[in-house]
Amino acid sequence: MHEFDESQKKLATSIIDYALKRIAMDPVPLDGPATPRELRDLYGSNITEKGLGGEEALRRFADGYALATLSTDHPRFWAFVPVAPTKAATLFDLVVSASCISGTTWIEAAGAVYLENEALAWLSSLAGMPEGAGGTFVSGGSMGNLSGLVAGREKARRLGRISGQPALLTSRDAHSSVATAARITDIEVILVDGDAKGKLTGEALRRKWEELSEADRGRIFGVAATAGVTNTGIVDDLEGVAGFCTEHDFWMHVDGAYGGAGLTQPELKDLYKGIERADSLVIDPHKWLFAPFDCAAILYRHPSDAERAMTQEAAYLDDVNKDREWNPASFAYHLSRRVRGLPFWFSLATYGTDAYRDAIAETLRITRYCADQIKQRPYLELAIDPELSVVVFRRKGWVDEDYVAWSEKLLEEQVAFVQPTTYRGERMMRFCFVNPRTTEADVDTVLDTMAK
Ligand SMILES: *Cc1c(COP(=O)(O)O)cnc(C)c1O
Repeated sequence: MHEFDESQKKLATSIIDYALKRIAMDPVPLDGPATPRELRDLYGSNITEKGLGGEEALRRFADGYALATLSTDHPRFWAFVPVAPTKAATLFDLVVSASCISGTTWIEAAGAVYLENEALAWLSSLAGMPEGAGGTFVSGGSMGNLSGLVAGREKARRLGRISGQPALLTSRDAHSSVATAARITDIEVILVDGDAKGKLTGEALRRKWEELSEADRGRIFGVAATAGVTNTGIVDDLEGVAGFCTEHDFWMHVDGAYGGAGLTQPELKDLYKGIERADSLVIDPHKWLFAPFDCAAILYRHPSDAERAMTQEAAYLDDVNKDREWNPASFAYHLSRRVRGLPFWFSLATYGTDAYRDAIAETLRITRYCADQIKQRPYLELAIDPELSVVVFRRKGWVDEDYVAWSEKLLEEQVAFVQPTTYRGERMMRFCFVNPRTTEADVDTVLDTMAK
């Protein structure tokens, strides 16, 4: 199993050929889901005592299971927040896999961690965070939010700023992972209403504060704001949130998992004002920054806050904890980790940051095109003017079942993958554009099918 003999070399060729074929596809097929039964019926059982051999296992994947697996980089995959990695990032993911690197501690992976930190520093500078800010790459925005909130809560506890069950202020439109992270860590979430657009503002926070009892006030350690609400693409009033946090010595967490990429756009600068004051900030390169899955950045204004909250103590780790230079394991809730920031770093190094700015600008241009088309078509109605790359709109006369049936038909016919959403209690359609290969013709094709 570990020797690289002739048969393994032959398998290597098949695997690399398959990977390269996949990377060269333009466009990739959408493909679609299957039932467990259908999948069981394909080949029966694959894990056997004697093994299938690599060629056969690969064949089963390529001809069978892969077809029941959607490709998010299809130019008409607009559901959720898809991912459309660059070619360089995808290719370098293969290199990361080929090099068995533990990205846990500096002593194990100095060179790789140095490069991950270079990519983190770029994100931190986009946000305008001060010198000394830093963090690590985690599996996703959910893990980033969990880690950021734990760092903030532990700091408040350490400094004796809170008593009783810790509580957090956040908006109704915050990502579901904020509520889940709070549940896991036994933090109470106190919801604050946004403004007309759904933005969490300093004013709304102050109003909420006035309503709270002394005891409740004494439990609050911070605020979680969102830079790019997943459902609507709206960015909270970060300046207002920062002001409120400064007044009360609260931890300011900013969830820019999806929307952080908009920081690359000079003309959107005002939208993000205040983000530079965040104590912790999440940005997912695996959303709108073209990195393959499994890549989210968590950054801290003072990384030592995270280190104190999350460093794992164990006899066998004593020495690395003592002589640490920069141990990524200490900056989030994890220990062993893949150097998942490297494909993103390689792509940034390959193409340069201007190419990123331009590719994101292109997705914003397509978003505006889509919004304009919706305004021009009498059967459609825009629900909110897009701030980033999410479009939420209604098809006049449609109810929930119509949206669902239409979405299913589009996938069945391999036209597009879209999913309805709920906005202010009403079922609607939502598109999220993060793929610079999406064209105006793609938008027209899909909107045209809503006319009937
Ligand atoms: C997607 C998303 C998350 C969760 O990120 P994962 O990488 O899916 O864990 C958190 N917050 C926002 C705003 C998101 O869009």
